Amino acid sequence: MGRYRGSVCRLCRREGLKLFLKGERCYTDKCSVERRAYAPGQHGQSRRKPSEYGIQLREKQKARRIYGVMEKQFRNYFKKAERKKGVTGEILLQILESRLDNIVYRLGFASSRNEARQLIKHGHFRVNGNKVDIPSYLVEAGDEISVREKSRSTPRFKELWEIAEQRTLPDWLQLDVDNWKGRVIRLPSREEIDVPVSEHLIIEMYSR
Ligand code: SF4
Repeated sequence: MGRYRGSVCRLCRREGLKLFLKGERCYTDKCSVERRAYAPGQHGQSRRKPSEYGIQLREKQKARRIYGVMEKQFRNYFKKAERKKGVTGEILLQILESRLDNIVYRLGFASSRNEARQLIKHGHFRVNGNKVDIPSYLVEAGDEISVREKSRSTPRFKELWEIAEQRTLPDWLQLDVDNWKGRVIRLPSREEIDVPVSEHLIIEMYSR
């Protein structure tokens, strides 16, 4: 599947907030949002009032960019959420949260979802002991995610491990630092998902 290959900082500037797509750099004063707090491009600083559709579209783009999902896949997640019983917006976010690249990032095994995707593709992770190299793999409650034994001694993982130990873990995840593994206790409720997205706007847009 095609993937956005341009500057990720442009995406943050377009959305007007930090999407934390670049790992450690996002926490420094080198962050582009901090330095240039306006949208990129020729019309980045113009102040046109957005239409209702424009607002909904931006919200959808923001969610897609935070989780690093392409349009087609994002729409498929929406359809999947719509078929399930419950609040569609909340289920959509739960599906996005249960992607393996997101779980790896949340557990602190990667500094960003982008890095998580790369590490997964390189075969560094196991789900319930089996190799999974698909970042979009949907993890379920009870699943165990571990770092491949051979990878644990690499400098990057040692570095990440030190960061992981200091990270605040969401209540729905469990981390076993000594054994290089984590577990999804349950899927998160809406209150436990800290992404700045108004999901009802996305649902409204797709329901037009
Ligand atoms: Fe976004 Fe991080 Fe780039 Fe800042 S440094 S603009 S938060 S990706």
